[in-house]
Amino acid sequence: MLRVDLRALDEGPIETEGVVAADDPIFVDAGFVLAEPVEVRGRLTASGPGRYYWHGTLRTDVAASCRRCLADLRVEVAPQVRALFTEDASGDDAAAYVVSPDAVELDLGEMVREELILVVPPFVVCRDDCRGFCPRCGKDLNEGPCECRPEADPRWAKLEALKQQRSDEGS
Ligand SMILES: [Zn+2]
Ligand SMILES: [Zn+2]
Repeated sequence: MLRVDLRALDEGPIETEGVVAADDPIFVDAGFVLAEPVEVRGRLTASGPGRYYWHGTLRTDVAASCRRCLADLRVEVAPQVRALFTEDASGDDAAAYVVSPDAVELDLGEMVREELILVVPPFVVCRDDCRGFCPRCGKDLNEGPCECRPEADPRWAKLEALKQQRSDEGS
């Protein structure tokens, strides 16, 4: 968890650096699984009464599977973040994180969770030309073609004719 002592802001911006474990409870129901801890690096600045800006970067690997062939993958996400924390829950800043007016510490956990949810891709492929599985026989087409053949493809018709010819000759 990442907590920043707000009283230290009296002396100027605070460098924040830390790591959130991949299985930290803040990621429960976040909709993704982390393969690595999250590296958090940034700076917290006071921005008027009850307002704080944090800017920095998050970096981690998300565990995912290829949408086409289901291979296990790791996807790096490393968003740049500019987050506003405010004591004014009714403010205009819809995207701001709310801090309790009597908080002495700022917890960056919720921000880390929300910012990662925004950048984790909903689906990924192992490579752009992944062929995935044959929808008819289920074979992984990255390992080679299957026996199924599209009816309307003229290239197959030609091959079929050739095969037929050969077997006629063979008999
Ligand atoms: Zn794939
Ligand atoms: Zn097939």
